[in-house]
Amino acid sequence: MLEALKEILEIQELDMKMIQLIQLKKQRKKELDVISDSKSKLNHLVSAKEEEVLELKKGIKIIEGEHADVQAKVKKLDSQQSSIKKVDEYNAITHEISSADRERLAIEQRLSDFYDKLAAEEDVLKGLHENFASSTESSKALESEIRESISQINEEGRVLKSQRDEMVKDVDQDVFMVYERLLGNKKDRVVVPLENRCCSGCHIMLTAQHENLVRKGERLVFCEHCSRIHYWQESKVLEDSAVAPKPRRRKTTKT
Ligand SMILES: [Zn+2]
Repeated sequence: MLEALKEILEIQELDMKMIQLIQLKKQRKKELDVISDSKSKLNHLVSAKEEEVLELKKGIKIIEGEHADVQAKVKKLDSQQSSIKKVDEYNAITHEISSADRERLAIEQRLSDFYDKLAAEEDVLKGLHENFASSTESSKALESEIRESISQINEEGRVLKSQRDEMVKDVDQDVFMVYERLLGNKKDRVVVPLENRCCSGCHIMLTAQHENLVRKGERLVFCEHCSRIHYWQESKVLEDSAVAPKPRRRKTTKT
């Protein structure tokens, strides 16, 4: 294998761990977003309901004022009537009193409707408050667990990065630049073994000629289908054959 690739392979393993960490962190952040989203929705519902209750109370205040006015009016008419001697004036006031009474009844009906509505809305609001409190309480543990895991991920990431920085110093910079460009495109392993003439990145078969080039390991050899860098996995072949010897046709390869 090209000597420079051995070091790149080690860096690649760190990079794969880093990619996993980044994905995990994204996922955990998404979980936090979901929690905070549902909290803010609930919070919004609570404040909308509070506003509604406040408006109802204002409405009730106004109607209660109207009720007090009409009651005072009836009282005043009653006392006026008691001092009146003329029949037609008396009748006129009786008429006024009964009309004011009708008004009072109508106001009382409206008030009663408002009180009912207020009681119902206050019940809903109480439920919302309870819901908000219990969901805040239950998500607290989950949130702190997620934050803890994110800070662990960050710590692992820092360690990986400093290991990587050290390794990068010693590596062939030309090969490394090619590797980094490929990694940036694929976000996946880009230095892969050629196994049975098959690219283990894209799983497409390559030619015997290509295999020979990879085996020689004199220069970088790219997969013509996916652009990954191929290497020849000497040690794996040995291990494989030690564990389970399989008939291989490599010896017949023309060189
Ligand atoms: Zn390929």
